Amino acid sequence: MKTKEKDLQEIGEFGLINRIRKWITSSDPALIQGIGDDVAVIEMGKKALLVTTDILIEDIHFDRSWSDPCSLGRKSLAVNLSDIASMGGIPKYFLISIGLPKNLPLSFISSFYRGLKQEAKKFRVELIGGDTSLSQKIIINICLLGEGEKRDLLFRKGAKVGDDLFVSGTLGDAALGLKILQEKKKMEPHGQSLWSPATGIKGLEGLIKRHLSPSPRVKLGQAIAKHHYADAMIDISDGLLIDTSHLLEESGAGARICEDRIPLSNLYRKWVRSFSKDPLRFAFSGGEEYELLFTAPPEMRKRISSLSHSLKIPITRIGEILPKKEGLHIIRKDGKDYSPSRLGFEHFK
Ligand code: ADP
Ligand code: MG
Repeated sequence: MKTKEKDLQEIGEFGLINRIRKWITSSDPALIQGIGDDVAVIEMGKKALLVTTDILIEDIHFDRSWSDPCSLGRKSLAVNLSDIASMGGIPKYFLISIGLPKNLPLSFISSFYRGLKQEAKKFRVELIGGDTSLSQKIIINICLLGEGEKRDLLFRKGAKVGDDLFVSGTLGDAALGLKILQEKKKMEPHGQSLWSPATGIKGLEGLIKRHLSPSPRVKLGQAIAKHHYADAMIDISDGLLIDTSHLLEESGAGARICEDRIPLSNLYRKWVRSFSKDPLRFAFSGGEEYELLFTAPPEMRKRISSLSHSLKIPITRIGEILPKKEGLHIIRKDGKDYSPSRLGFEHFK
């Protein structure tokens, strides 16, 4: 009997990337970091050139019925800025390639570029080129270049046993915001709505905004790197647990995360039960948070806390790094622990 050939659904996005990594190896001595981190790092004298790319595809990453083009323009750049932030680098120049359907109104594209320009101005990056093509659905791909001091940059690898595990901001808001938009769309044709005058969409706007307009933590990432507070860092684009597992894999370590330390916003606490039985579902497994997750030796606690105050960005200690054989486990509020079965979002799965 013929055995079924492996497909992408079976190995998932990360199984595929691991295979690509084995197929394509490099012995270029200037390549400090190739496939396997948020950004590729190339030695350029004393400095390092940083290169990252991300793709956004209509109906996979965004829905035209709720994504206004201006926010989409900002977000397309923001997701790349977040990867540079996770290394502690300085973003500089970007190229954008777009695939567009021929009936797309010109006003959509002009608003998109307005958003792109706003984000570029805010983070002082310059658009230097790109490519344009016809496509059935909208496809947006940005390649962002940056720079950094070689000795300051932070990688996914580098976490040490005994390090604290920290996360910036609050978790789950963006994923809950997306869930709200999806539920709203499902209900609309039937005239039912969660957005009745009694509840109002007003109360939910903050969560939706976190999904539509993420704020990359560029300044925070640079400060953590410059002061050498951390041993390893990653940005949370696929979900806390899955991105923690990426950091652990590259570092050859395990970790413990305490449920009752997960930073949740008031809005999240207020609304999560209306959308999930598990109040930590979006905080643990929801993607697109664009917060920074990093590990640091315990003697850095005070300095990290002062940095959090001076930048006015919450930074929470959520766990600690353990030996690899411990794997990743979660300590529940009652003190019992478990290994999570579903980590987060993965394409093809
Ligand atoms: P992030 O979520 O930070 O954008 P990814 O999970 O997309 O990171 O990618 C992890 C690593 O795999 C990165 O080094 C990225 O450049 C690399 N990578 C992703 N897709 C491909 C691909 N199709 N070919 C080669 N490298 C890839
Ligand atoms: Mg990343």
